[in-house]
Amino acid sequence: MTYQAEASALVPGLTEDSLAASNNAAWTARYGQALMNTFGSPQRVLVRGEGCYVWDADGRRYLDLLGGLAVNSLGHAHPLLVSTVTAQLATLGHVSNFFASAPQVALAERLLDLLGPAASALGGRVFFTNSGTEANEAAVKITRRTGRPKLVATENGFHGRSLGALAITGKPAIREPFEPLPGEVTFVPFGDVEALSAAVDGDTAAVFLEPVQGEGGVVPAPAGYLEAAREITERTGTLLVIDEIQTGIGRCGDWFAHTAEGIVPDVVTVAKGLGGGFPIGACIGLGRAADLLGPGAHGTTFGGNPVAAAAGLAVLHAVERDGLLENVRTVGAHLRAEVLALGHPLIKGVRGRGLLLGIELAGPSEARFSAEGGHVGVAAAVMAEALGAGFIVNAVTPDTIRLAPPLILDTAQADEFLAALPAVLDAVGTAPKEIR
Ligand SMILES: *Cc1c(COP(=O)(O)O)cnc(C)c1O
Repeated sequence: MTYQAEASALVPGLTEDSLAASNNAAWTARYGQALMNTFGSPQRVLVRGEGCYVWDADGRRYLDLLGGLAVNSLGHAHPLLVSTVTAQLATLGHVSNFFASAPQVALAERLLDLLGPAASALGGRVFFTNSGTEANEAAVKITRRTGRPKLVATENGFHGRSLGALAITGKPAIREPFEPLPGEVTFVPFGDVEALSAAVDGDTAAVFLEPVQGEGGVVPAPAGYLEAAREITERTGTLLVIDEIQTGIGRCGDWFAHTAEGIVPDVVTVAKGLGGGFPIGACIGLGRAADLLGPGAHGTTFGGNPVAAAAGLAVLHAVERDGLLENVRTVGAHLRAEVLALGHPLIKGVRGRGLLLGIELAGPSEARFSAEGGHVGVAAAVMAEALGAGFIVNAVTPDTIRLAPPLILDTAQADEFLAALPAVLDAVGTAPKEIR
């Protein structure tokens, strides 16, 4: 048996044969027995993807408008990503961080470059991680090295599930069950310059902000907010940490959403879209923040892994070569305009930037999860109805549908969704039902 045949035989789902023996119900039942119940019951079991489409274990096809939660920037099974990852894995798959690898160095240089000339002029350094929350953990540790005790973050903000990142996450429902959490954190209303100004003083180590609150329901910072935050933090010698984990790497139509506001932060964190589906994150320090973590101050076994770094290089290359920033702006604007043009009574508005969009729905918006872990609310009903119609979307809040499709989504694919949306909304009507 060749290694390829052996691999196909040992990983369920890699061959048509093993798929024939499986289906959504059977794998969902096994999932329910073997996996911790942190995510509720999975909506479907997915077995294959290509471009903007995925297929489930029953052979049904879906247009993926969630993109692995803003991760699959190049869609599924992008040939360049597959080739790059395969080539790197076959050459050098992993080294300890007592050694360096060329892809790691090249990706760090590229990220620093993409932050723009003003950021480059300050000098910067990158710490690679495997996830978003780890990138923010590194950022929190950087803030500790200022000698100041206090942090400021925003209500409804989201920075991750590990304890440091959770401590600055402004969602009481997911934070409070795990208190006490480290640090002295003040939460301010997102977008309120006066509240931010009042909360930040000479004891504040850092302010953490998202350019668009993603998990908070796709809520963009009002015009001028990031600029004001930069002024306030500069005045008090406070670090400004911009969490671009969801918004960065082209998602909002620029390499980083904050650069459109003309600011230069002290720390930028990225993850989700950077590896196109291969796990990687990064904490980027600029100016003095680049040097606050010295030898022994922080570490990671996997962070900077050459395969993950190669994946990042492939994504950045494809975004540039294929003009995906432009595509994000064009298709994002088209989606926004055409969703609004439907004039459907359930649609109240569209928020967001580029291909990070929130469709605001009319209807009651009670608690996000029922006691059994199911989604509740009009958005959950729309999500379920859309799935039945062959579209993957996300009920990010009880009354908002999030779209974060691959950056390669084209207008014709967007139009497939737009054509199906009225019937999906009609089926939901105005009486939200509970979905499991
Ligand atoms: C997803 C997300 C995180 C956490 O990333 P993980 O990879 O899930 O740990 C942090 N911040 C923002 C803004 C995110 O969207």
